[in-house]
Amino acid sequence: MNEENLKKILEFAARGNAFGEKVTVVGATKTIPADIINRAIADGLKVVAENKVNEFREKTDLIRGAEQHFIGHLQTNKVKYIVGKVSLIHSVDSLKLAAAISDECVKKKVEQPILIQINVGNEETKSGFSPSETERAMEEISRLPLLKVKGLMAMLPKTENTLLLRELSLQMRGFYDKLKEKYDFTTLSMGMSSDYKIAVECGSNTVRIGSLIFGERNYEVKK
Ligand SMILES: *Cc1c(COP(=O)(O)O)cnc(C)c1O
Repeated sequence: MNEENLKKILEFAARGNAFGEKVTVVGATKTIPADIINRAIADGLKVVAENKVNEFREKTDLIRGAEQHFIGHLQTNKVKYIVGKVSLIHSVDSLKLAAAISDECVKKKVEQPILIQINVGNEETKSGFSPSETERAMEEISRLPLLKVKGLMAMLPKTENTLLLRELSLQMRGFYDKLKEKYDFTTLSMGMSSDYKIAVECGSNTVRIGSLIFGERNYEVKK
């Protein structure tokens, strides 16, 4: 764990974004053991998130003193392991998944806050709604029982082209503001280790950061 980086990121976030909003730092904890995650929490990290259901199930009861989110692709047959157990699901990327989460909410009699995942660069390899189909999807999703749509999650392309990142981030914020007029939105989840500063400058209020806090991931050790 990199205490220096965590401290810098938390200080950066504490200054808020250009829209005067509070910025939440979500620690992306894939492949990281629970004791190290708990050390980051002791150092001030307030929200942590897994992106794989199995890993979430292994670690969730070992995490102490932080809010837990889910940020990865979720299969409909696994929603039962996540619904009602995390305070926010960032990664609702299809109508089918939204409906499955809602069904599980009804079954468990719980509300589930979610974000709609937007594939802002229209990349073929990434899941999520394209910006153009999102308004219609929102109309359908907002009618589903017990789902609380709190905003959008953007997957930005992996690129060092900061002009492009800036352009897409601003586009996302414009899009978020437009939907915010109609829906009770609070959260725009956008930005990771490599681009969180740009994302926040352009209006993100929630960043998902893994490697800067926890170091490069070693996928060999785990699984
Ligand atoms: C791993 C992950 C992140 C964080 O990635 P880093 O580049 O390590 O900061 C953010 N969002 C999702 C969905 C992730 O799976």
